[in-house]
Amino acid sequence: MLSLDAPLLIFTDLDGTLLDSYTYDWQPAADWLARLREKNIPVILCSSKTAAEMLHIQKLLGLQGLPLIAENGAVVELDSRWQTHPDFPRQIFGASHAEISAVLSKLRARSAFKFTTFDDVDESTIAEWTGLSPAQASLTRLHEASVTLIWRDSDERMAEFARQLNDLGLQFVHGARFWHVLDITSGKNYAANGLIDLYQRQWKRRPVTVGLGDGPNDAPLLEAMDYAVIVKGLNREGVVLRSDSAVQVYRTQHKGPEGWQEGMTRLFTAP
Ligand SMILES: [Mg+2]
Repeated sequence: MLSLDAPLLIFTDLDGTLLDSYTYDWQPAADWLARLREKNIPVILCSSKTAAEMLHIQKLLGLQGLPLIAENGAVVELDSRWQTHPDFPRQIFGASHAEISAVLSKLRARSAFKFTTFDDVDESTIAEWTGLSPAQASLTRLHEASVTLIWRDSDERMAEFARQLNDLGLQFVHGARFWHVLDITSGKNYAANGLIDLYQRQWKRRPVTVGLGDGPNDAPLLEAMDYAVIVKGLNREGVVLRSDSAVQVYRTQHKGPEGWQEGMTRLFTAP
């Protein structure tokens, strides 16, 4: 059983994990968030969303000022108190949004791959796709180091597209609803490990890490944790962790924020 007095860091995915996949509600997790805030335990949001969008959500959740991991790990917003960090306020890893966009235009022109990026459409279209308000949808387009897209071609063509991206130093990642192109050297796990090191230096002891996620793309993050909660998800493949990873895993019965609170309660309460 874990103690709330341990030097804890909580890393959590958003859609389908802390937030309901359809309504974006997190109320079932609200009591836990309040408890963690009282104990000064950092809850670090970790998503494929942009930093601008996540800063908005972070505020709604009462987590403002804490670090967050955006764009699948390509962007890290540092703690608002870490002003002496050379990259403050934001770390950007790998190729920029503009560089990736240029590569995508080239591949599209050369091989006629069919896809629609968030840059190809206006805010009202993104609002339709995501169910967000147009104001919030505008924040989803402020990518700094990745490109989000909807794939409109065959599976075979997708494999070819991913191969061509890899040759150019980029990776193709499947998120909750969309696909994301980012630098091959970026990832939620690398971003999380960087933050764990920063906390370790500050706290002078190794943080105890808990990760929560619901999708296959959360696996690398969860494998980098001491404890993982796999929230029951929509994805049929589920989350498969490498068998050699040392992480202790709990799989929830409930989906979304209900699963989030179920997993946290299980970790911090004797079975
Ligand atoms: Mg998710």
